[in-house]
Amino acid sequence: MKPQRMALTHDLVMCYGLHERLQMFEPRLATEEEMKQFHISDYIDFLRYVTPHNMHAFKDQLQEYNVGDDCPIFEGLYKFCRISSGGSIEAARKINRGESDIAINWSGGLHHAKKVEASGFCYVNDIVLAIMELLRYHQRVVYIDIDVHHGDGVQDAFYMTNRVLTVSFHRFGPTSDGHDFFPGTGSLDQHGEDEGKYHAVNVPLKAGMDDTSYVALFKQVIDRVMEVYRPGAIVMQCGADSLGCDRLGCFCLSIKGHGQCVAHMKRHNVPMVVLGGGGYTVPNVARCWAYETGLLVDADLPNKIPPHASASFYRPDFTLFPKIQDQLRNENSQDDIARIRTAVFEQLQHLEHAPSVQMHAIPPEIDGLTEDGWAEYRDKLADQQADLDARVRLGVIAAARPQTQAAARYAENEFYTDEADQDDDFDGMDVEDDEDDGRAMDVDMNGAPGGQGRARARESSTASDAVFGWADLAGLQDNHLPTHPHAPAGGGAHLGMSGQ
Ligand SMILES: [Zn+2]
Repeated sequence: MKPQRMALTHDLVMCYGLHERLQMFEPRLATEEEMKQFHISDYIDFLRYVTPHNMHAFKDQLQEYNVGDDCPIFEGLYKFCRISSGGSIEAARKINRGESDIAINWSGGLHHAKKVEASGFCYVNDIVLAIMELLRYHQRVVYIDIDVHHGDGVQDAFYMTNRVLTVSFHRFGPTSDGHDFFPGTGSLDQHGEDEGKYHAVNVPLKAGMDDTSYVALFKQVIDRVMEVYRPGAIVMQCGADSLGCDRLGCFCLSIKGHGQCVAHMKRHNVPMVVLGGGGYTVPNVARCWAYETGLLVDADLPNKIPPHASASFYRPDFTLFPKIQDQLRNENSQDDIARIRTAVFEQLQHLEHAPSVQMHAIPPEIDGLTEDGWAEYRDKLADQQADLDARVRLGVIAAARPQTQAAARYAENEFYTDEADQDDDFDGMDVEDDEDDGRAMDVDMNGAPGGQGRARARESSTASDAVFGWADLAGLQDNHLPTHPHAPAGGGAHLGMSGQ
């Protein structure tokens, strides 16, 4: 979880010239109130006040909140949480306001954090906060997780609602040392409860999963999910520890194989927030996320990495696609995979003809969404865009179309009346309340008629319509951030290429 991952990704994106196809911007930090939308107040207060110097005074809380060993206290922890969460929340808002079809925050994706505790180096769950934001405008949201670890924190948060369907592809089961692979959850039979029954989809896999098996299964499962659930928005966690040669992972995906999953979701043409996640062989994480940024803006990146300040990390061959697969035997037999696919399809049958869920509780208004606040914020973003140069370090990178085009496209889509249109699905939305609290006026200012701000771009996705982001980590020095607690000692960058 070193900020070096973000810096390297940033440098690759820039050296490939992808910034020319992106809108890049720096979101404000998440506020305390925003983070408390999901996490309990005392836990956020604890994160705010605890430091390496005073942690001895928080002995009880350290234990209660699972902070200390796997989730250490470090200088700048609270800001780290605010950066990561602020980027994901803002990405969701870009989608909600119809300003972008795809919004990327590579510093997000911290899927293990729970409502009342930290887990697996995740303290604040930016994904849950982003999904809560999307639920203001979208009746159904699909969450997709291709990190090698189970997306337990997100699944838990929405385990009892039918408004979010979570899908996690992950390693599951005992490892060679006899312990369950972290976090130990995500079996096939965990599929949701109450209203959320059948809305948690788990794809538990063994070690060595390769491109051929993984991508085929991913497409089959996801296409079925999209067909039966018909979400208004997608959140995709792109943890890169499912790549081959990851220091913690045990899958054998290539960078192109990992990217095929992202590209496949783009083809579904549903507004999407794309987030980072795990990934512990740092140069490969940067390769992967830069490549996937390119896929999202339809850029064809050459294998030879252009010369740039961080090029030495990609020695010896300076390629974007090193051979990192085929390092482990695939322990998943075709029978294993067929059994999983059958079980998931049977689960999804329960959702058929049942996606007409009504809007229930819309998350309460989040601080900073007043009309004046948005106007001020938009002005700031406009200034930042004007000042953008090749070395800017950003909070949320953006691959968005110009706002004016987005507004025009949005207006066109508002009248989308194909049979796949889900206008009827919004009948249950409490639009009147939205207008009362002033948000509708904010959306109107973006050119969205009706004040509902629903971004639906199914028929009009273009090459450069993503919003793309990562955090300004200038205030966080590498030596303040520990490596992932499960990482082998020693840190440092490993190329993870075959034969090394
Ligand atoms: Zn992971």
